Amino acid sequence: MALTSGLGGQLSIDLGALARNWRALDKVSAGALTGAVVKADAYGVGITMAAKALHAAGARFFFVATPDEGLAVRAALSDVHIFVLDGLYPGAANLYIRQNLMPAISSMAMLEEWLAKCIERNEAYPSAFHFDTGMNRLGFRLGEVNAVRERIEGLGYAPQMVMSHLACADQPNHEKNRTQLALFGSVLAKFPGIPASLANSAGLMTGRDYHFQMVRPGIALYGGRAVNGRKNPMAPVVTLHVPILQVVEARTGESVGYGAAYSLSRNSRLAIIGHGYADGFMRSLSSTNMRPGGKVAIRGKVCPVIGRISMDLSIVDITELGADIPNPGEGAEVLGATIGVDDQADAAGTIGYEILTSLRLARVNRNYVGDGNLPPE
Ligand SMILES: *Cc1c(COP(=O)(O)O)cnc(C)c1O
Repeated sequence: MALTSGLGGQLSIDLGALARNWRALDKVSAGALTGAVVKADAYGVGITMAAKALHAAGARFFFVATPDEGLAVRAALSDVHIFVLDGLYPGAANLYIRQNLMPAISSMAMLEEWLAKCIERNEAYPSAFHFDTGMNRLGFRLGEVNAVRERIEGLGYAPQMVMSHLACADQPNHEKNRTQLALFGSVLAKFPGIPASLANSAGLMTGRDYHFQMVRPGIALYGGRAVNGRKNPMAPVVTLHVPILQVVEARTGESVGYGAAYSLSRNSRLAIIGHGYADGFMRSLSSTNMRPGGKVAIRGKVCPVIGRISMDLSIVDITELGADIPNPGEGAEVLGATIGVDDQADAAGTIGYEILTSLRLARVNRNYVGDGNLPPE
C-alpha cells in the first residue's frame, strides 16, 4: 500500500446505492437469479468492497473477466459462485479448481482441457458453456453445438449454465436482439434442463423473454445508463471531486493550454484543476472554440473545460461564477449529482463504462460510504 497524504481529489463510492441498484434489478428480473458482474475492478469502484456489498444485498453469483479477478472475489467471499467470462486460460485448470472458479468455456480446446482435468480427477468440475449467437467474439460457434453436446453426453458431464451475450441490447428495438434470442433458443434446445443466461443490464431491462434463469447486470449496478434513449432509473454510485489548485485571470484574445487550441473571446477567470488524462480525465474531453468538451461543477454551477486536457491538469472557465470565486483547495465535481457519468461520457464521445473503468487511474483518495446491508423489505 502506497503512503498517501489524504490530500487531493476524493472519489466517493456509495455502497448503499450499489446494493439498492442490485435489489432493484433483482425485482425487475423476479423469477430469474440475479448475478452481479464485477469485472474491471467492479467497473472501477473496487472489486472487494463492491463484491462484499453486493453479497450483503443478496447476490450469490458473480461474474469476472479474468482469473485474477476471480481470486479477488474468492478472497472476499468464500461461499459464492464465480464465473470467469474469459473462459479457461491454458494451463490454469488446477487454479480454477482450487479456487472454485467456473470458466465460461467458449472453445473446443478449452472444453477438452477442462474435461481432461475432470477425467483425471474423476470429478465433474462445474463450468458454464458460452455460445456466440451473433457477436463473433468469445463463444462456441453455432455450428459446434452438436459436437459439444456429443462430447459431454458420452461422459455424462453437464455444465451449470449455458450462456450467450447480446450485441445490441442497448437498443431495445434492434432486430438483432430477436435474432440472437431465437438462435439462443436453438442452442438451449440441445441442452434441456440446463439453466440459461443471456441478459446483461440492458437485456434485463428489455423484458422477460431475455431473463431465462440468470441475468448478468454490470453497468446498471454502478449507476450507468444501460439502455439508450430512456431515462436512467439507477441510483448514481460514484462522486468524484478534484482540487482547484489556482484561479487565474486571462484576457480576451489570449490562448489557453497546449497547442493554444482555445482562445478567449472575453476577459476570463479560469480555475486550474488537478485532474488530467493520467487520472482518466480523457483527452477527448478537451475543447476548442469550435467544439465543446467536458464539464465540471464548481460551487454547484456547471463550468466548461477549455483547451486541451493535460496529463495532470485541466483548465476550467469560471467566468460565469462572477464574484463567487472558489478558493484553492476547494473541490470541483467531475462526477456526481450535477455531472452524471453519462453526461461526461457523452461529452467525451464514449460510454459510461469507459468513464467508470477509467476511475482506476485517478490519483485520488477513495472513500466508501454506506454498506450493502439494506433494511429488510
Ligand atoms: C460485461 C458483461 C456483462 C455485463 O454487461 P453490462 O452491459 O455492463 O450490464 C454481461 N455478460 C458478459 C458476457 C459481459 O462481458
